[in-house]
Amino acid sequence: VFITLEGPDGSGKSTIIKLIGDFLKKESIQFIETREPGGTFIGEEIREIILDNKNTNMSYETEALLYAASRGQHIHEKIIPALEDGKVVLCDRFILSSLAYQGVGRGLGIEKIKMINDFAIRGVYPDLILFFHIDPKITLERKLGNIDTDRLENLGGEFHERVYKGYMDLLKLYPKNIVIIDASRSIEEVLEQSINTIKKILK
Ligand code: C5P
Repeated sequence: VFITLEGPDGSGKSTIIKLIGDFLKKESIQFIETREPGGTFIGEEIREIILDNKNTNMSYETEALLYAASRGQHIHEKIIPALEDGKVVLCDRFILSSLAYQGVGRGLGIEKIKMINDFAIRGVYPDLILFFHIDPKITLERKLGNIDTDRLENLGGEFHERVYKGYMDLLKLYPKNIVIIDASRSIEEVLEQSINTIKKILK
């Protein structure tokens, strides 16, 4: 079963994915936890290039292709083999992030981003997408004081507003397999809603 976590920066995905992993371990369910961009050696190298604050002249097209390339390697090397082994795959970000960030945030268009990603992922779509919904105003506040930010986090409020709107449009365009989690609530509540949703799909 392929489960991805999606949502804007600062929505708490990375904290919750660890706790979901703890739950699966407790239940003796075989799983892997992974992330994008990254997840493989090649993917992590690509991540470094994308997020490096020095790469100020990267074109939006290059950025989009690098995300898709990282994803293509991830599917090939890690996700498909784990699914074939019968494992649950928990992945922090996947195709919906590219559609929202590069398709809408960067303005490249959802259709074009979908096309290059469909090529990369060979038809392997998540069985369940947990969408961590949170108002960008709250995430900006959560981020204040965090000095260790990457090239894309540094883009500022307007970019992240567009990404948020993009996600909202995508929820309407691709409602299949997406469950909305209220990420403005406490960690305990967000975790509980996430686990209850996962239990249903694992039954
Ligand atoms: O989720 P994570 O913090 O690992 O994402 C790393 C950075 O990449 C974030 O700044 C996020 O906004 C950005 N990102 C992006 N486009 C994607 C995925 C992530 O700009 N498709």
